[in-house]
Amino acid sequence: MDFSQSKELHEEALDHIVGGVNSPSRAYKAVGGGAPVYMDRARGAYFWDVDGNKYIDYLAAYGPIITGHGHPHIAEAITRAANNGVLYGTPTKLENKFAKMLKEAIPSLEKVRFVNSGTEAVMTTVRVARAYTGRTKIIKFAGCYHGHFDSVLVQAGSGPATLGTPDSAGIPKAVAADVITVPFNDLEAFKTAMDRWGDQIAAVLVEPIVGNFGIVEPHQGFLQAVNDITHDAGALVIYDEVITAFRFTYGSAQQVYNIEPDMTAMGKIIGGGLPIGAYGGRQDIMEQVAPLGPAYQAGTMAGNPASMAAGIACLEVLQQDGVYDRLDKLGARLEKGIVVKAADAGVPISVNRLCGALTVYFGDTKVTNYDQAEESDGEAFAQFFRLMIEQGINLAPSKYEAWFLTTEHTEADIDTTVDAVGNAFKKMAEK
Ligand code: PMP
Repeated sequence: MDFSQSKELHEEALDHIVGGVNSPSRAYKAVGGGAPVYMDRARGAYFWDVDGNKYIDYLAAYGPIITGHGHPHIAEAITRAANNGVLYGTPTKLENKFAKMLKEAIPSLEKVRFVNSGTEAVMTTVRVARAYTGRTKIIKFAGCYHGHFDSVLVQAGSGPATLGTPDSAGIPKAVAADVITVPFNDLEAFKTAMDRWGDQIAAVLVEPIVGNFGIVEPHQGFLQAVNDITHDAGALVIYDEVITAFRFTYGSAQQVYNIEPDMTAMGKIIGGGLPIGAYGGRQDIMEQVAPLGPAYQAGTMAGNPASMAAGIACLEVLQQDGVYDRLDKLGARLEKGIVVKAADAGVPISVNRLCGALTVYFGDTKVTNYDQAEESDGEAFAQFFRLMIEQGINLAPSKYEAWFLTTEHTEADIDTTVDAVGNAFKKMAEK
């Protein structure tokens, strides 16, 4: 495949845009560097790059594009919004309609507020939890990503339950010191942390199904225990459903496990591809938020008509019968195909899948926490990634990301992909 136009554009981008990309995850740093592929056009499950190469896409823009690229129902909604003026700075009918749709789909959302990104949504839930409880510390789980605000760019040091150290330059140590990180799926470590700091904890922040070190489900009973222990300590549970809301079912992960957090942060899918975030939860907690309460949060672009219209249209597509069954069937076909090809070639992998999202880890270990994901073979992944893109299969350039199916992928797309996977594994086994 010829990538010469992408290379040229990357050279140009390096002159103007820091690192050539507007989000570091788009760089090919983790897969050997060089120019990322510049996409030119997208439709359904496909991309065409600036060199004219065609791809089957499993990136889905890191999750939002569950109905495929350029879905006509969403495109029409956005066009209509554009023709009516894209930004008003006043309340609009669309905000009410969309808020009602979200509340109907996710009953724990007694009140919601729209923002512009997942980062903003999670950041505000943490602020509101601090306002509500009058406490400052939060607990998060190692390897979970919650956006790029200071408090959540914090990782554990050594030990099962540790006070955080900053994971990025520019974050004050004092901020990190208010964040405790424990391993996901490790109830004992969580209990240890709560025994020690429980009365200072404002909130426990969790991705109920992890999407950020691959797709990792909670062990049976883990989320319930987290809820119970957190509430016993007078703290709040915040679910970060930025990836999971409307990914696995029409609703959120809390419905998959029949368990309710106090607050939920969302983003990605609910914007139908346009910028969005939303947070919500129990009425008495949400009443902390301005203009009703003392916790301030605002946004010039929040609830803008285009994002609302795209989000509504996206959920309308997802409400159709059989959407999630189909995603699950396609996901199962893809998983099975990959597993068979790996066995044929003798390449050790383990796959985590839920519905239309899966992660392929290179190595034998079943991944249930971040350490195991970290131990998976990054060099093997990098090689696999290159072999796949050369065959017209677009994956996220990181071993920690998921493959996302859309409503537009077909069985034929899956079979083409599985053949490409087989070729890649064969080449990998040769070395
Ligand atoms: N939370 C989770 C679980 C995420 O996956 C992400 C983004 N990948 C965020 C928060 C941040 O969302 P955004 O990039 O829209 O700020």
